[in-house]
Amino acid sequence: MRFSRLLVPTTKETPNDATLASHIFLIRGGFIQSVGGSGLYNFLPLGKKVLDRVRNVVKEELDNAGCQEVSLSFVTPASLWEESGRYEKYGKELLRFKDRKDNEFVLGPTHEEMMVNLVRQSVKSYKQLPLNLYQINLKFRDEIRPRFGLMRGREFLMKDGYSFHADEADMKREFDLMEETYKKIFTRLGLEFRVVEADSGAIGGSGSKEFMVLADSGEDTIVVCDGCDYGANIEAAVRREKTCDAPVPQLGKEKIHTPDATTMEALSKFFDVDPFYLVKTVAMRALYDEGKSQIVLFAIRGSDELQEVKACNAVEANELVEVSEQELEEAGLIAGFMSPLNAPESVRVVIDNALKGATGMICGANEKEYHTTGNTIDGDFDYSDIVAVQEGDACAKCGGTLRYTKGIEAGHIFQLGTRYSEPLGCTFLDENGKAKPMVMGTYGIGVSRLLAAIIEQHHDEKGCIWTKESAPFDLYVMVSNIKDVAQLALGEKVYETLKAAGIDVLFDDRKDRFGAKMKDYELIGIPHAVIIGKKLSDGLVEFVTREGMVKEEVSADEIVSYVQERLC
Ligand code: ATP
Ligand code: MG
Repeated sequence: MRFSRLLVPTTKETPNDATLASHIFLIRGGFIQSVGGSGLYNFLPLGKKVLDRVRNVVKEELDNAGCQEVSLSFVTPASLWEESGRYEKYGKELLRFKDRKDNEFVLGPTHEEMMVNLVRQSVKSYKQLPLNLYQINLKFRDEIRPRFGLMRGREFLMKDGYSFHADEADMKREFDLMEETYKKIFTRLGLEFRVVEADSGAIGGSGSKEFMVLADSGEDTIVVCDGCDYGANIEAAVRREKTCDAPVPQLGKEKIHTPDATTMEALSKFFDVDPFYLVKTVAMRALYDEGKSQIVLFAIRGSDELQEVKACNAVEANELVEVSEQELEEAGLIAGFMSPLNAPESVRVVIDNALKGATGMICGANEKEYHTTGNTIDGDFDYSDIVAVQEGDACAKCGGTLRYTKGIEAGHIFQLGTRYSEPLGCTFLDENGKAKPMVMGTYGIGVSRLLAAIIEQHHDEKGCIWTKESAPFDLYVMVSNIKDVAQLALGEKVYETLKAAGIDVLFDDRKDRFGAKMKDYELIGIPHAVIIGKKLSDGLVEFVTREGMVKEEVSADEIVSYVQERLC
């Protein structure tokens, strides 16, 4: 491709809303263009090329693993979402609308219902299973805060795959195969990543793993172990049971006047005990379908923090929201003095697993300005793991030290079971002629997000540094001064010869100054370049590696074979 013919509107201007390197460089490099600044983007020729290359890597590896590509309607009848029970649950991210005949539709944020609908119409027997179908198509999520460019768009490209099996064991086999396949994909794309245990979220089911591209700018906190390969999203991370060096407080069962002790810190000082022996009670309102809601008291140790995703899962709510002091009062609760032990009937209580059987605990009295001491937590409560693992906690697997790191969620695989096949009646006849729901897995990759993830990991202060399999071109060839007949002639020859040899070359034949062209090269970030300049009179050209901007002088006569050797 000749640069003079290519639409690449590079710019020095940093977009106002851009803070991440990938957002800045993808816009400045003329890869993408914002549409109205709200999570919608146009892909310009360079961006489309990168997207297609990434998409091809994904497709090749999936096809290799026996998956089959399909393409589902993006506009989805709401009735399918009603059948699965997700129409209400999904919340405001689901864009709902009506057609001229008043039929309701949604723009697919994910396509479980659609794929199940496809399969239930065409698969009837165990002989047709297993099956793994995928698509690489647009998704729409009306994200509350679209940001960071392609990282969190509203419309974005996702690879979503769904597998169908006669039994659980076969689904697990496929799940493992997908894990291996995803590893191959992210490795080919040149990414440093980690596979971590994940929360299954609104989609339901159990057993899920995320593929986290490691980057300081990542929105996800992941917990990793220094001693073994354990890794988990903070939303799903577990730890070895925590202990406390300070002794259990030897206070009898009493009600004590504690007027100002409304925080864990103040309470710990007041009684001179470690926060490990305090009960922290967090009130949240759990939201359910059909506008139903309930106040829930989550009780944890004073030394812990509530993990909201775990808490939300523990009460199977659609969402947890804050509760005002007035709402608390109406429910018979007093902020700062709440207790899970004698809570009013109308509120639900969930106690952290770590508190089960704890003795000597200090707790609110559910009475203004009072706490109680000497409590044992052994009642007939709902117990669940609802706390966030902290840095320094011990690994449940090996006892090593856990620490936090940041990641970008690039892929997510789930063991779904019959969460969708059952309500949607996606059944097959087994060997004995008995109808059974198919057992499913679901597998996603954020294809457009990957462009951002690659740049987050591979850039410098000047611009992008694309990896081999993601780069928009294999090589950039620049003629420094196109008025120089010898330079231009060599440029044309190198370009035509390498193109004929199957190398995808961007040939910079523009009239612009050398400095401006070099800036564009650094910004766009093609992995290698040949710069034909003044030294050609000495028979030399430059071979440049974008990573580190390493320059080598090469004989002009040998540059074609040199490039072929270096690029293969
Ligand atoms: P997140 O937690 O980042 O919102 P998610 O867990 O809701 O993502 P999934 O439902 O697992 O997303 O979707 C599969 C993949 O699609 C994700 O792993 C991610 O790479 C990508 N993805 C999800 N939301 C977006 C978005 N708003 N923009 C771009 N890619 C996205
Ligand atoms: Mg996910």
